[in-house]
Amino acid sequence: MKFTPAKPPLTGETLASLTEKLRALGEPAFRAKQILDWLYKKRARSWDEMTNLSKPLRTWLDATFDLMPATLVFNKQSHDVTDKLLLELRDGSLIETVIIRVPQEGVGLDESRKTICISTQVGCAMACAFCASGLAGLKRDLSAGEIVAQLLQVCYREDERSPRARPELASFDNIVVMGMGEPLANYDATLGALAIVNAEWGLGFGARRITLSTSGLVPKILRLAEEPLGFRLAISLHGATDEVREKIMPVNKAFPLAKLIPAIRTFSEKHGRMVTLEFILIEDINDSLDQARALRDIALDLHAHVNLIPYNTVEGLPWKRPSLTRQEKFADILRAARVSVTLRREKGHDIDAACGQLRLKTERDRADAA
Ligand code: SF4
Repeated sequence: MKFTPAKPPLTGETLASLTEKLRALGEPAFRAKQILDWLYKKRARSWDEMTNLSKPLRTWLDATFDLMPATLVFNKQSHDVTDKLLLELRDGSLIETVIIRVPQEGVGLDESRKTICISTQVGCAMACAFCASGLAGLKRDLSAGEIVAQLLQVCYREDERSPRARPELASFDNIVVMGMGEPLANYDATLGALAIVNAEWGLGFGARRITLSTSGLVPKILRLAEEPLGFRLAISLHGATDEVREKIMPVNKAFPLAKLIPAIRTFSEKHGRMVTLEFILIEDINDSLDQARALRDIALDLHAHVNLIPYNTVEGLPWKRPSLTRQEKFADILRAARVSVTLRREKGHDIDAACGQLRLKTERDRADAA
């Protein structure tokens, strides 16, 4: 499921691919680096800003590439520290990108550390029972250029809020590939985008500050283990036994825990990194103390970090978040065994920050208005 735009996005080009296209035009090899500097370091938002390029070259670029394939529809700011950008792609598809600010003492919110959550697909085919993105199924995969464009849009926005001390750097500190879609189901585009984000001629962003999250596609986890770039890995576990996991994550039928756990182990042994197990706590679904004990055993076995996330209500779905007492009791079982655990105080609850909700709501509003 791919969309072929009238012009490919410049954000999908590598230094090598752009050099080759320019060479065919008779341009010297260094031009490609100049153009990518304008895009990623100087954040040019029009071809005319690229003043060290000749007018005929700028005309050719304009005719050949889309400088920015994602347009900001709106930015919804939460009362806490989360911003959600709704972006429209060239075929009218909507995707979500979230900026999560981590307040730091003595530092204003604009200068605080920022984690960016990006999408890799429009919708999602994995049909996790608790998730807004899976509700309408998969529309299509994003291209590498559309994935990179989300990060540039964040840079535009953050640069406007506070000028960068080091203009050559990205305007954020961490990337989590946890937005709409299953990243490993769109493997080549996702890894292609992250290679551009990581490259010195791109955003120059360290692989170790990038976390890929998967619902548990075992063959792709094993493939990722062989990649030279050392990304971090997070697993959306959400059930600590097959019985519970299968109820809310259909992927567990193809890749039950007996296959998933060894694949996670292979990844963490290859990269020497602690994997994170994501666990959304849903009342009466997976918040029992038996689930906590089973999760504790898996985490100890894998030397994994556990991130407990109280469920964010999704319109149209029946699930609820457990009480604070219940959440703490669950976490205490892990803490007592010295498992590294975080119980997240959810950010962005008031702006539909759970994956896919803002897009779904906007699509429904658009359909009602049509
Ligand atoms: S939780 Fe992730 S993998 Fe599951 S349906 Fe939602 S977007 Fe897809």
